Amino acid sequence: MLSIGSNVGDRLGYLRGCVEGLGDWVVAVSSVYSTEPWGGVAQDEFLNAILLVEDPTADALEWLRRGQACEAAAQRTRKIRWGPRTLDVDVIDVELTRRQDPELTLPHPRAHQRAFVLVPWLDVAPDAVLAGHGRVADLVAALPAAERRSVRRRNDLVLR
Ligand code: ADP
Ligand code: MG
Repeated sequence: MLSIGSNVGDRLGYLRGCVEGLGDWVVAVSSVYSTEPWGGVAQDEFLNAILLVEDPTADALEWLRRGQACEAAAQRTRKIRWGPRTLDVDVIDVELTRRQDPELTLPHPRAHQRAFVLVPWLDVAPDAVLAGHGRVADLVAALPAAERRSVRRRNDLVLR
């Protein structure tokens, strides 16, 4: 499961480019959400979405590599941590794999506290479970109200 986000330039275009780039591996796409930035750096709102991807030949590191290829295709430059970016692709979960490695940590270490990951995830997988944290629906219910409010479904925007 991949989380994609953009808050610079043609945000919807960058998200769509990623969905297109991943092609037939994408088996489900969430709604698009406007989300307030996270991490304390002043910047524009993000558009975020969740992609369910499937490829029996790909392991977790291959999904990281494919996500980074999407970021490169969006001309992403890395300047400030948690700062503005044309495209961010995070690997959230790969079949409940647990992995403690700075190159790829699974599940994504901050997913359980991010409404912009958990809320769209429920669109495409209402029964989803985050390894080590339980049901995603329960995690959403437990979020601070302000965190939940920071994520708004954009019915006017469609990814594919
Ligand atoms: P962030 O997404 O936290 O804002 P970056 O996208 O710049 O930061 O990612 C920084 C590094 O995080 C990448 O080089 C990548 O190898 C590593 N990383 C570790 N775990 C993950 C994960 N689950 N998904 C994506 N990147 C990860
Ligand atoms: Mg990232």
